[in-house]
Amino acid sequence: MTPPPRRNGPPFPVARKSLGQHFLIDPNIVRKIVRLAELQPGETVLEIGPGRGILTEALLEASGLVVAIELDPALCDYLRTTLGSRPNLKLVEADALHYEYDQIPGPMLVVANLPYYVSTPILFRLLKERQRVMRMVLMLQEEVAIRLAASAGGKDYSVLSVAAQFSCEVRMGFKVAPSCFRPRPRVGSAVVVLTPLPKPRVSVPDEAFFFKVVRSGFAHRRKAVLNSLRDEGFEGARVAAALKKTNLDPRRRAETFTLSDFADLTVALQ
Ligand code: SAM
Repeated sequence: MTPPPRRNGPPFPVARKSLGQHFLIDPNIVRKIVRLAELQPGETVLEIGPGRGILTEALLEASGLVVAIELDPALCDYLRTTLGSRPNLKLVEADALHYEYDQIPGPMLVVANLPYYVSTPILFRLLKERQRVMRMVLMLQEEVAIRLAASAGGKDYSVLSVAAQFSCEVRMGFKVAPSCFRPRPRVGSAVVVLTPLPKPRVSVPDEAFFFKVVRSGFAHRRKAVLNSLRDEGFEGARVAAALKKTNLDPRRRAETFTLSDFADLTVALQ
């Protein structure tokens, strides 16, 4: 499809759905995102996937430096033409899945309408950077946003919920209808705010081992934690002993385990 001409500027490059290109067209949504970010002049913002720059432009107005990472070379050319003269924009043509975020001077905020096809791996990468991040305001597929905020006991509770809530306060912002984008996505969207906590919600001696236990527990969702961990290579007797020691019913599934339950089990297993 031929991209529509723009009234003031070069034509938009063709949208590539394979890169999750669903561009915001509603300025009200942009304003609401920027308001949630509570940006202060002088602050540094990381934007992943600036696209045609609708959010970037608002972020440039509200902050000190905007580091915008875009994978699509055609969109990077477009942004160089339209926003290249803005002194506080650092446009990086790179893949957000591989970019080394420690190059960006912290502390920073992350404000982005993420490409949905890679939103989960990007989220995990951002959570690793949490010590230098003041706040993340992210537009996500609604289903992912719900998983981030889900409590133990429901079908939406997952590894992502545990990972986000382990180190952040997660707050639902607002829902966004497909009609606010072009091309329209097939799924609903939502904006969430993740605020990194000064220290993780539960204390574990070895974070990597904690997440190994969590992942293994959820690997076979329909099975009891004991069986799921065993299927993932943990010695059954050791897991049974750790569950007994911590008074956790071995028949329970991972989706019923709170963060403290996972932390207790991890410590007992270690
Ligand atoms: N921020 C724009 C907006 O709100 O209209 C565009 C958002 S669009 C949902 C996602 C953007 O991420 C697209 O511009 C796409 O090219 C870019 N993108 C996709 N995969 C990427 C990756 N791995 N690294 C960096 N950018 C990526």
